[in-house]
Amino acid sequence: MCGILAYTGKGNIRNIVKKGLKSLEYRGYDACGYAFAYDNNISIKKEVGKNKIESLTDSLPEYVEKNVYLLSHTRWATHGDNTEKNAHPHYDCKKNIFLVHNGIIENYNEIKNDLLASGHKFIGSTDTEAIPHILESIDYISTPEKIFEILQGSFACVFLDKKQPFKLFIFRRKSPLIVGKDKNTLFISSDMQTLSLFCNKFIEIKENIFYQLDTKNIYILPENKKIIYSFTISSFFNKKEIESEKENIFMKNEIWQQPETIKKNIPILQSLINEPASKLNKFIKKCKFPERIIIAGCGTSWHAGLIGKIYLERFSKIITQVEYASEFRYNNPVFNKNTWFFALSQSGETADTIGAMELAKLFNIPIIGIVNNPLSTIDKNSDFSFHLNVGTEIGVAATKSFTMQILILFMLSLFFAKDKKEEKKKFISAIYELPEKIKEVLNKEDELKQIVEEYFLSSSNAIFLGRGYNYPTALEGALKMKEISYIHAEGSSAAEMKHGPLALVDKNLPVVFIVGNKNDITYEKIISNMHEVKSRNGKILSIVNQREKKIDSLPSDKVLILPETIPELTPIINVVALQIISFYAGILKGCDVDKPRNLAKSVTVE
Ligand code: GLU
Repeated sequence: MCGILAYTGKGNIRNIVKKGLKSLEYRGYDACGYAFAYDNNISIKKEVGKNKIESLTDSLPEYVEKNVYLLSHTRWATHGDNTEKNAHPHYDCKKNIFLVHNGIIENYNEIKNDLLASGHKFIGSTDTEAIPHILESIDYISTPEKIFEILQGSFACVFLDKKQPFKLFIFRRKSPLIVGKDKNTLFISSDMQTLSLFCNKFIEIKENIFYQLDTKNIYILPENKKIIYSFTISSFFNKKEIESEKENIFMKNEIWQQPETIKKNIPILQSLINEPASKLNKFIKKCKFPERIIIAGCGTSWHAGLIGKIYLERFSKIITQVEYASEFRYNNPVFNKNTWFFALSQSGETADTIGAMELAKLFNIPIIGIVNNPLSTIDKNSDFSFHLNVGTEIGVAATKSFTMQILILFMLSLFFAKDKKEEKKKFISAIYELPEKIKEVLNKEDELKQIVEEYFLSSSNAIFLGRGYNYPTALEGALKMKEISYIHAEGSSAAEMKHGPLALVDKNLPVVFIVGNKNDITYEKIISNMHEVKSRNGKILSIVNQREKKIDSLPSDKVLILPETIPELTPIINVVALQIISFYAGILKGCDVDKPRNLAKSVTVE
């Protein structure tokens, strides 16, 4: 979702902006643009649509001998349609100020009406356009605090001003913005990964402070106080992954990386849990054992939370509630003593999850972050963080991050479980078998592709059903199908089917049952649910986790046999097959699977 890359210094600005904006592409965008000041001139260009970064940046000079002050942007429209007028940079009436913005100005209508009444002219309909006009009407050099008094909402802004040459100005609230330094150059970005392509020293920009930058230094206005740099980030990100320019392969790569991501993390998680001197154990000693856990997340993270709830209640006997972060934060939730709060977010920048976490923090309870991006807002503001450690996930649809979220929650529930020594041993050996079993699923690629052709390509709807651990798996399968192939899919508990969705069933509707195996407590129940669908002529694909080839006669048109494992781990096996099914549904329908329409990777607005 939206991204900023800005730069002050000399060099090959065409390459810098191309590389920087391309690395932001994975977040999802609808338009892009830049403005730069060079030799007393300001140049501006915008492009509307996806895949426009090449043509946008080809118009930039290859090399500049003198210092340039540049800002560039990928826009994910929140207010105002996707047109050139609404693309960033936006400018004031006199075309002195050029500004890019990530976020949402919640009171823009009010501001815009005041500005229109005092004679300002607007050309577009986005919220952002109000900001350069405000800057035009105040003396931001000596009273920068005014901007923070006027603006409501979330914003990360970078701008240049013809009247203030050889400078860039930046400020933020809620949306992230970071400055990096390399020799005589400063880079500014909303995304740490992008920044790590260019430099390894950075400083995070504080909220509600107005900064001025030249090519070497950052100053706080109005005092003009210089800032000292402080941190190194280079080891956190894999530049090769971020720089890869291959089209339409990230999602596939990321699905296929799962045996590896799981394998490398099992020993890391085990030592975190088992070593008495591990950071986790030290942290736990400082806290009271949780009596209640609240898990908050959005989308796929919420699904992982639902599976985690079953683990935590079943093994740790801790009351666990799972909440959509977006709803939770506005519902006046009750926090009692000995409640712990888990924030689940791949990016660590999900605006609603950050909001829910900030609320939980007010109650002084332990905050646990489970994130993929180290140094993200959730990571930094948690009392303890688990890193998914699955490498950069660029495809907009979560894949490898989901399976790792599940594994972390499972291992954590074993950690909290008292006694159960024998059972734990059995679980740990099943965990170690996971990578090989996932490989077996990946080897079924041809069969899965054929299933897509037979079941999904001619259909505009589908239903995914499961019970127990595989109920959230079904929700995730349906979400993946919607995101990647634009086939409308509904996920539900198989038991809930007859309370509504059954009305949709006819001979053309693909119904996917994620059955699990005979060891599962709900096995017989789900078979009955299948009969209910079959009696109404539903077109059933069932997914079973079974070692022997010979399976019960199931009321299915097709049975997909996946590796057997303990019921607790079947979601990890089954979701990989569902990811591949949605991937091929997208590919065969000609969809951009890495960047589904209208979606963004890191949802940094509410
Ligand atoms: N709200 C602004 C717009 O719609 C900024 C969106 C973004 O962060 O890309 O243009």
